[in-house]
Amino acid sequence: LPEQEAFDIEYWLLEEAKLQRMPKPKSLAGRIALVTGGAGGIGRATAERLAGEGACIVLADIDAESLKSAHADFAKRFGADVVRSVVLDVTDEAGVIAAFAETVVEFGGLDILVSNAGIASSAPVESTELSMWNRNIDILATGYFLVSREAFRLFRRQKLGGNVIFVASKNGLAASPGASAYCTAKAAEIHLARCLALEGADAGIRVNTVNPDAVLRGSKIWNGEWREQRAASSKIEVTDLEEHYRNRSLLKLNVFPEDIAEAIYFLASDASAKSTGNIINVDAGNAQSFTR
Ligand code: NAD
Repeated sequence: LPEQEAFDIEYWLLEEAKLQRMPKPKSLAGRIALVTGGAGGIGRATAERLAGEGACIVLADIDAESLKSAHADFAKRFGADVVRSVVLDVTDEAGVIAAFAETVVEFGGLDILVSNAGIASSAPVESTELSMWNRNIDILATGYFLVSREAFRLFRRQKLGGNVIFVASKNGLAASPGASAYCTAKAAEIHLARCLALEGADAGIRVNTVNPDAVLRGSKIWNGEWREQRAASSKIEVTDLEEHYRNRSLLKLNVFPEDIAEAIYFLASDASAKSTGNIINVDAGNAQSFTR
């Protein structure tokens, strides 16, 4: 190569290398997100994903102990100034109102609500106690209503649009044996999200749903009686559950909290600016959806 040309190429390569080393702008910088159930498996993975993109995070959870350790970990990794935590029972109307007020006091507003706090408890209908039915409806359907109502009130006051993401479940679309209370509550969440998408559109408020299939690892739900209930209803051993879910998926893959967090991040970001009232199933292609 002539000397000048070689010099130009070398210069260009150096400039390219410099660009590569420059930190990429964070896509959620300056945004504020409240994540309910933020001390649990999916909620914590989601909060991490959003914080990694520069969002300020409010972790809200009923489990004070897990919340404390999640908060400490977040403060260490992302900085104490970008994380707050609030002990919250999503069925407590006054508590929900106070949590949103605290978010405004601490961070000055809200851009993203991830409604995710949940439990799972179910039985065949003939042995479903009213208390079990009510617990599912209260925490899942009513809890999602209470937090999204507060987000809507705030978003309308801010006049900056807003973003609500529901973590519902594949079970909100596909009935699962021995789980009518949970499935019904999850179906209510999915329909609530659609209604809210309709109501919020005029104010630029987007509302979308992520439906995970079974996420066993990292999820506290699966540490309790749910594990035995699900194994019994599928007539398999508890130890075979993960393999069972993997095998029934089209892609033969299990789903992890980080997979759900990735879909939530997409819905929280401007990459999905033209999506509202939609559902993303994160289920590796659940066979229940296909006739084969
Ligand atoms: P998880 O138990 O690890 O997390 C749920 C969190 O919600 C916990 O930290 C818990 O303390 C909190 N919580 C429970 N009741 C609450 C209340 N009344 N108020 C505030 N917080 C409360 O479970 P996960 O798997 O991370 O579940 C998160 C969401 O995903 C739930 O809504 C669940 O129904 C849904 N989901 C989970 C799966 C799965 O297989 N793990 C599948 C589909 C949908």
